[in-house]
Amino acid sequence: MIVGAGFAGSVAAERLAAGLGKKVLLVDKRPHIGGNAYDHHDEHGILVHRYGPHIFHTNSREVFDYLSRFTGWRQYQHRVLACVDGQLLPIPINLDTVNRLYGLSLTSFELEKFFASVAEPIGVPRTSEDVIVGKVGRELYEKFFRKYTRKQWGLDPSELDAQVTARVPVRTNRDDRYFTDTYQAMPQHGFTRMFERMLDHPNIHVLLNTDYRDIEGIIPYREMIYTGPIDEYFDFRFGKLPYRCLDFRFETHDTRQVQPVAVVNYPNEYAYTRVTEFKHLTGQAHARSTLVYEYPCDEGDPYYPVPRPENAELYRRYQQLAEATRGVHFVGRLATYKYYNMDQVVAQSLALCARLMGLRRAELVEVATDAGAVGGRRMYR
Ligand code: FAD
Ligand code: UDP
Repeated sequence: MIVGAGFAGSVAAERLAAGLGKKVLLVDKRPHIGGNAYDHHDEHGILVHRYGPHIFHTNSREVFDYLSRFTGWRQYQHRVLACVDGQLLPIPINLDTVNRLYGLSLTSFELEKFFASVAEPIGVPRTSEDVIVGKVGRELYEKFFRKYTRKQWGLDPSELDAQVTARVPVRTNRDDRYFTDTYQAMPQHGFTRMFERMLDHPNIHVLLNTDYRDIEGIIPYREMIYTGPIDEYFDFRFGKLPYRCLDFRFETHDTRQVQPVAVVNYPNEYAYTRVTEFKHLTGQAHARSTLVYEYPCDEGDPYYPVPRPENAELYRRYQQLAEATRGVHFVGRLATYKYYNMDQVVAQSLALCARLMGLRRAELVEVATDAGAVGGRRMYR
């Protein structure tokens, strides 16, 4: 039994069914597969991501090749602008950001010197505040990071681990891409289609609209892979692990294009953090355009584990319980309480399957035959 049909659960289902010939029951309480990466056509026929913008990027050839079995790709380089002091400026902060913000014409070399003059000396950055003020000083930190982070997490950057804002680099060149990974692309026909192909195997049975707790006493299983929130699995025995939630509000406009790039961040104004226009991501041609506004909140579906020391400590207690729970394997963003991107979850799930199958990860991905599968396996390339 696999709980959760997101990346963690679906990759495990595919590998165990197709690679090992296991029979898998994949259960999700939502009415769809794909977890938070789920996309669908809205009532206007525009392909949107139900749970906020998902852009695939990775440096792992293994992960990219593995997913390429189930989808073709549309090359896409993600670009984001931040609305600061009335201008839309490139984020990550780069040479153009600083020149346009201050009306300067610095060179990269001069910008390095500028950063060195304003950066605060911080040894090893411990918090999300340290990371930014240690690179670009307090003023840019205030304009681009402090209020966005307070909105997004309900915490000051000084209360969050360094890894949170360290996701966003600082550049002295003019590269305005959000990511610089080797592979950056969107699934040609969307994430959901990719999941459909991944799960199209005679050994995989998908049960939607079902909380696993309603069936675990009824449907026998040998082992479980669990990808939901780890604290919930253990009935919050040690207390609740904080997960940050989002309220997504969709809007459709009667124009082809509303904003110049896929995502505009609003660090300083409004209750929402960012606005995404999906057609930039998907390349879809349509007379109208749908956007989503993200409003962070405390209550609702769990979307983000909150990286800070006390939460890591609480997670460790649950992790110890998980390790002592025989026959149940915990994997994914919620079950291992890690601020992971999609590719990291795929890699983590492949690693778990390799361990369960007694293989090295590279060998596991090779095992793509229908060895032991009931009814054979269709290969998609
Ligand atoms: P999930 O996708 O959360 O799947 C877990 C599933 O378990 C859910 O479908 C849930 O319904 C199900 N479940 C939970 N409890 C139960 C239960 N009791 N019974 C049955 N089912 C249950 N990553 C990127 O790489 N690029 C991006 O651009 C990106 N953007 C993101 C934007 C947002 C707003 C968010 C929230 C995340 C983003 N991510 C991005 C991260 C990405 O969503 C995750 O890494 C990935 O989807 C995690 O997959 P998962 O399978 O671990 O978890
Ligand atoms: N961040 C910020 N300002 C920005 C972009 C990001 O302060 O314009 C901070 C914020 O704390 C955010 C974190 O950097 O949560 C990571 O940003 P990323 O875009 O990776 O967030 P995600 O896409 O995971 O929501």
